[in-house]
Amino acid sequence: DEAIHSDKWCVRYRAELEDKYNRRLAITTELKRALASQQNELSMVYQPKIDLVTMKVCSMEALIRWNSSALGFVPPDEFITIAEQAGLIEQVTSWVMKQTISDLAYFREKGYDFTVAMNLSTQDIQNKVLLSNLVSLLTEKGLSPDALELEITESDLVADASLAIENLNELTARGFHFAIDDFGTGYSSLAYLKNLPVKTIKIDKSFILSLASDENDQQIVHTVLSLAAVFNLKVVAEGVEDLASLTILKDWGCDVAQGYYISRPLKLADLEEWLQNTPFGE
Ligand code: C2E
Ligand code: MG
Ligand code: MG
Ligand code: MG
Repeated sequence: DEAIHSDKWCVRYRAELEDKYNRRLAITTELKRALASQQNELSMVYQPKIDLVTMKVCSMEALIRWNSSALGFVPPDEFITIAEQAGLIEQVTSWVMKQTISDLAYFREKGYDFTVAMNLSTQDIQNKVLLSNLVSLLTEKGLSPDALELEITESDLVADASLAIENLNELTARGFHFAIDDFGTGYSSLAYLKNLPVKTIKIDKSFILSLASDENDQQIVHTVLSLAAVFNLKVVAEGVEDLASLTILKDWGCDVAQGYYISRPLKLADLEEWLQNTPFGE
């Protein structure tokens, strides 16, 4: 009986692995095609962040979207991880950089002066060619590096600290600003971050989504905010979905908020309309 039971389990487990493998393969193949073709399957959307003192927009996070003709919408969390493992992240980030910097130049032409935040993976931080292309792209558009914020995920940084730190220092010397994304999901402490050229942490949305009702989250967020003040770090809260959470964050001295309560990520045309109608406009 037991043997039959475990046999069944094995079959199910193998089927699951196979599904996962096939999905991964399909994503890799289709992503390569999307990167090579001119079919506009990839696009950028922008999500506003507001300064909690002025309650005005201070920055936009650039987030990639992929609407695959073969696979439909593929979430970035899923395909970015696969791109990293399949050796495709350099191409993805190159695409993101070009599009984002061109949009940043457009925002400046229109007279907006918010910064734009771009997500980088650790592999990007170690890629000198990619990073020097980033500098060139900015120079071509007459933009300075401090118009851009670079977000790197906490867990990536801890996993690969020594290599990354050198490049972070170099880019900081050139005027770039870094933010630690998804703070609280890795294993780093604020004391550890003190040794990095990082000015900003973004508290992971898992601590923010239920902030108004969850006492544990309130304790964690309060502690992070107190310590960040000691270490002179700017704090961004992501995943703010309601006014009650926004108010708590403002009262506790959090610097910046981002989340569906303010706005969902928007494509460029919708963003311009939003900027004209929002109470959070510049
Ligand atoms: P992230 O950098 O932490 O981005 C924040 C994510 O939280 C975004 O998901 C955003 O849409 C979502 N979010 C924002 N506010 C709320 C809210 O109030 N409630 C909820 N439930 N979610 C909210 P998205 O766009 O699906 O991106 C997921 C992750 O994929 C990003 O997390 C980032 O790690 C990665 N990613 C996205 N675009 C890029 C990119 O261009 N390059 C790289 N390397 N990674 C990217
Ligand atoms: Mg981010
Ligand atoms: Mg992330
Ligand atoms: Mg995050």
